[in-house]
Amino acid sequence: MISDRITALRELMKREGVQAYLVPSSDQHQSEYLPECWKRRKWLSGFTGSAGDVVVTMDKAGLWTDGRYFIQAEEQLKSSGIVLYKMGLPDSLKMEDWIASELKEGQKLGVDPKVLSMESASGLKRTLKEKGMVLHYIDSNLVDELWTDRPSPSLGPVEVLDVRYSGESLESKLSRIRKKMDEKGCTVHITGALDSIAWTLNMRGKDIEFNPVFISYLSMTKDGGVLFIDPIKLDAKSKKHLMDKVVVRSYSEFEAYLKELSEKEVKVWLDPKTTNKWTALKLEGKPKVHQERSPIVDLKSVKNEVELKGFRDSLVVDGVAMVRYFKWLRENVPKGSVTEISAATKLEELRKEGKHFVGLSFTTISGYKGHGAIIHYDPTPETDVELKSEGIYLVDSGGQYMNGTTDITRTMALGPPTPEQIDMFTRVLKGHIAIASLRFPKGFSGKQLDAFARKALWDAGKNYNHGTGHGIGHYLNVHEGPMGITPRDAGVPLSAGNVLSNEPGYYKENEYGIRTENLIVVVKDEEFSTPEQEFLRFETLTLCPIDLSLVDRKMLTKEERKWLNEYHRLVRRKLSRKLDPETRAFLKELTRKV
Ligand code: ZN
Ligand code: ZN
Repeated sequence: MISDRITALRELMKREGVQAYLVPSSDQHQSEYLPECWKRRKWLSGFTGSAGDVVVTMDKAGLWTDGRYFIQAEEQLKSSGIVLYKMGLPDSLKMEDWIASELKEGQKLGVDPKVLSMESASGLKRTLKEKGMVLHYIDSNLVDELWTDRPSPSLGPVEVLDVRYSGESLESKLSRIRKKMDEKGCTVHITGALDSIAWTLNMRGKDIEFNPVFISYLSMTKDGGVLFIDPIKLDAKSKKHLMDKVVVRSYSEFEAYLKELSEKEVKVWLDPKTTNKWTALKLEGKPKVHQERSPIVDLKSVKNEVELKGFRDSLVVDGVAMVRYFKWLRENVPKGSVTEISAATKLEELRKEGKHFVGLSFTTISGYKGHGAIIHYDPTPETDVELKSEGIYLVDSGGQYMNGTTDITRTMALGPPTPEQIDMFTRVLKGHIAIASLRFPKGFSGKQLDAFARKALWDAGKNYNHGTGHGIGHYLNVHEGPMGITPRDAGVPLSAGNVLSNEPGYYKENEYGIRTENLIVVVKDEEFSTPEQEFLRFETLTLCPIDLSLVDRKMLTKEERKWLNEYHRLVRRKLSRKLDPETRAFLKELTRKV
């Protein structure tokens, strides 16, 4: 029982002398997707979403999560005694403010410094200090003490990603990172961000479901590097790949290494967003600390030509699976027996047949009717429903391929849609096209572009509670910074080579959900660029039909119709050759001119 776990946690809080305890969503690597052994917030609260922090006081408990999870969290927290606090709404109560209002002056909020980033730790510390309260670090994790049957960490093997997929050698990446370190006068750069480590080393792992990363820390110096990893994960090929460039030490030696380093006069670059507070605390001593976003994050977000070709190739494979899936739905839904789960399973089977497929890039969101309105709905046997020849079905899914990562959402009418559904779908499409065809001066961030995707919805007094786009890794994490297209974005300017999603939506609780998501890449706008002002634009990478039965062509401008027709012509041209004649004819019908 969840309430028993919270009661037991309160006993440990008493022992430690803290009046509140924070259990963030994250682990020591500040990952979004965690290995099972570190899903502490899920174990404590029962909430399974990918984002959400829990705070427990002596008589209350609260969970803070964002718009993607409001409906799911409400459902999963029922009878847990934990109150849901919705983030990102105009009247949202911030977690820090809630803590400050619940604690009295001089009281303490306990937290494991490993699961808090340096940035969150200093923000929280400041807020509490202003109110006369204390952020108290407890080195042992209190949830771990209670979670007696906690799974052990994964020991999955690590593989070398050949340069014909990554497009750049390990040596070249190390030297580009070192150049950035030099520019800031840094002699050491330490990162615990798993996707940054995988990208730098041209290696991929199996430690976390959906994310091809491996649990490790990486320290780079001016002439070498140290990888902290369970050595059992490395085979002869991996060891040879790292030889003379990066030394391997065991994961558990990282603490001792920080201690050694704390005695040295070095300047260490730490990314406050992705470095845990524990690392910073262990380094306290002689080193100077330079706090800035890791140079790897920016280098990784600009995809090279080989990576971009990989994205394009994998999106052909992915598009073929999607079209075959639509055909299967069209043929099987009327017969009955297709459910949200069996549909998701079928889609996975179709993807598996694709070249270079490794696994899914996240849990397939397969939501029929009202379930489509739950933004990150993951059907379970208890919630599973049969798809019928009526209503709207939303499917958001993606694959990990050795040459790319995909993420696509399509919404389709399984029967005749209502005028309201057509109206809303077309507004979402107008927003999608607005981004896809946008041309903007270099220097603008996704934060500034986000509103274009919402304009047609705002015109009808509607909105959606999530960002319009996120960066995506190359055979790496499906969510990748530093840039995005969202009002909550840090405002990082977009650069040519950034790959992002374009995914506006609309959700009507208990009735239906609409989202149209393609991957896009930022490219230089040759026509508009001048020596004084470079212009950028997006190029759509994803190849998959958009359901025309939900489109009101009269609501589209001439330019929007042109975009849609050209997009569908491209989809047909790229996918037709890979399809059997019957599926090809089906695709032709789906991509007809409007
Ligand atoms: Zn998606
Ligand atoms: Zn997405």
